[in-house]
Amino acid sequence: MHSNQALSRRSFLAATSCFGAAVAFAKLLPLPALGEDLAQDSRIAQTPLVDKGFASVRKMGNGVYATISDFSKGAQTICNGGFLIGRDAALLIEGFASPAGAGFQMDTLRTLSQVPVRAALDTHYHFDHSLGNAFYGAQNIPVWAHARVAPRIIESYVPLQGMERDKALAPFEKRLQSAKNDTERQRAQSDVNAATAVWSLANGTVLALPNHPLDPGKLPVTIDLGGVSAVLDTYPGHSGTDVIARVPDQNIVFTGDLLFNAWYPVTFDASISAWRATLGKFAAFDKDTLFVPGHGQLCGQEGIALSRSVFDDLAEHAEKMYKAGVPVEEAVQRYAVPEKFKNFPIFAWGFTVGPTIAKLYEEWKGGRP
Ligand SMILES: [Zn+2]
Repeated sequence: MHSNQALSRRSFLAATSCFGAAVAFAKLLPLPALGEDLAQDSRIAQTPLVDKGFASVRKMGNGVYATISDFSKGAQTICNGGFLIGRDAALLIEGFASPAGAGFQMDTLRTLSQVPVRAALDTHYHFDHSLGNAFYGAQNIPVWAHARVAPRIIESYVPLQGMERDKALAPFEKRLQSAKNDTERQRAQSDVNAATAVWSLANGTVLALPNHPLDPGKLPVTIDLGGVSAVLDTYPGHSGTDVIARVPDQNIVFTGDLLFNAWYPVTFDASISAWRATLGKFAAFDKDTLFVPGHGQLCGQEGIALSRSVFDDLAEHAEKMYKAGVPVEEAVQRYAVPEKFKNFPIFAWGFTVGPTIAKLYEEWKGGRP
């Protein structure tokens, strides 16, 4: 009896602290409206098909729909996704942060078509793209992902399950305690909030793994849905498990988190040089390409250019610090967000700015350019 009460109190705390963290973070990030160019683009529907607050679904091509999240209004989806509908089958993109998020996307698909669902694709292993997989499992929908996604989910989220909250947060709390000023304290607090959200979501979820591993050596692969085809391909940079979905004959690309549009990129397990090279490849895609980023609003090539300029700004700062012999921890704290990026959401300092600078330092120490 006693332990049951303790357990239910713990899961209550997990649920509420998750929401608290999400809300504390969300105040910073209202989703911007569609850019002017895209609002004029005849391929994109003027109004969303459905808007639940936490996410909306918008038609952006022939049988192509984007699910765009607004984290400030709820944490059901967190990331963006979408789906493709052909004559014979449909393809869902992303497992989202919760089964409710995945269910929302599936329900929306079913208002448009009853074709069988060939697969749901997790673009990579991160919690906000995969913790809703259980919904697909319950519906007998195969979950496809890069072959490393299942092991990375296990390595990353199973250890958090059953771990006491205080233990999981201890390293982050410790940095918060040792912050030297208000700026450092705010940044450390953002890391505590992010870690709290990940811990809570992992503990509040029955993990479900992809059952159809995509061997990166065998990509790209074309999925013919009947009149609509998707090409799944892998590019390096964000997580070591990244797969994108292209609709080449309509110039549409679902990038997963290889693109954060008007956000600071989350880089804690990124390869910075590889990611910047991948963005260079995206920049060489057709000039009229429409991108569905992992986070942020739909965009065209201007979103790729913007993301490259954020990396350039971080790298310029890091290089100046590195050449001046400034220790990496100090270099991370001395980065100031420039005016032109001041409205860009930062998931948490220690998951974005911090690792970008630290990883660049490591690359330079290793003798790489
Ligand atoms: Zn990610």
